[in-house]
Amino acid sequence: MLDNFIAPYDATVVAKLKTAGMVMLGKANMDEFAMGSSNETSFYGPVRNPWDPNKVPGGSSGGSAAASAARLAPCSTGTDTGGSIRQPAALTGITGVKPTYGRVSRYGMIAFASSLDQAGVLARSAADAAAVLRVMAGFDPKDSTSVDAPVPDYPALLNAPLKGLKIGLLREFFEGLEPRNAKLIRDALAVFTSLGAETLEVSLPHLPMSVPTYYVVAPAECSSNLSRFDGVRYGYRCESPKDLTDLYERSRGEGFGAEVKRRIMTGTYVLSAGYFDAYYLKAQRVRRLITDDFRAAFEKVDLLAGPTTPTPAFAIGAKVDDPVTMYLNDIYTIGANLAGLPGVSTPCGFVDGLPLGLQLIGPHFAEAKLLGAAHQFQLATDWHTHRPGGYE
Ligand code: GLN
Repeated sequence: MLDNFIAPYDATVVAKLKTAGMVMLGKANMDEFAMGSSNETSFYGPVRNPWDPNKVPGGSSGGSAAASAARLAPCSTGTDTGGSIRQPAALTGITGVKPTYGRVSRYGMIAFASSLDQAGVLARSAADAAAVLRVMAGFDPKDSTSVDAPVPDYPALLNAPLKGLKIGLLREFFEGLEPRNAKLIRDALAVFTSLGAETLEVSLPHLPMSVPTYYVVAPAECSSNLSRFDGVRYGYRCESPKDLTDLYERSRGEGFGAEVKRRIMTGTYVLSAGYFDAYYLKAQRVRRLITDDFRAAFEKVDLLAGPTTPTPAFAIGAKVDDPVTMYLNDIYTIGANLAGLPGVSTPCGFVDGLPLGLQLIGPHFAEAKLLGAAHQFQLATDWHTHRPGGYE
């Protein structure tokens, strides 16, 4: 739909990074309209994982993640609607930060699901991510969802002591988790304990419903957002349309890929008269229950911890024909989006030579605490310094 499209203006995030002196190297490959978990829905074909070229880099920001993991760029940007920063960061062995909803301006971003989308950063360390996020974040009058609150000096706060920090282990995230993955997460938690943090188990009973909830809410919002791609204003236009209806139908039919069409159709269905109450409204109610679970948990703990993904990077082609299996990749990341919370993924070890991520989730606007915890974990371990062979 947007092949060869060149934006006539810079996104606020890009403008801010340029003003701070950063050099933009280019656009990175991603799943089409950010819908995917493996980069395989990209019109241009999938990026490969630098740790193993037969494996996916994760998605949707797989290109950003692979570029930073392969040392082509020190850091990269992405958006996270259901995990698209944290999941590819985990699968490529780098650090990914999904800020609080409203923390970073979305002006200039292509909207996918407006109540979930948030821009963030992928980098080789939490310290680098903190420096970049400090520049990216902040109020923007051009984005009505951006929050008018001062941006903390994240780099200056990285060394705030972890002593007494309460970290909750998300019980639901360990149920059915592959033992080797679970062990790496528990080992990571032991590092936090050695740094003075306390860990305790917490339960968020509605969290297991986050994937079905997301796959009602996100498609509903995308079906509305993507209606702007009509062959008239910008983007792909079909050849010699017979009339206006033909122009709309063929421009959209030819311009969108299969996954995007699947989402638009699901979204249109759940919003349609007669189904709205049963699906969309119900999903919004469950979303509230999930948010309330997080709120209750943060009365007991400062941060929540668990895996970022159920497995390390999987083979290219392994899940493309089964959307539900693909959607389940985001089982651990989607909750934070539904509740608008910030999350960080930091490398925490390897399974079969492939990196895995530890996810930390915090209360709204707790980015400094999350980055500090990730940074001090990275000072005590060296997982984030491992680089894929052949990339110097
Ligand atoms: N993988 C999820 C999806 O396909 C999340 C994508 C994202 O965060 N942009 O919708």
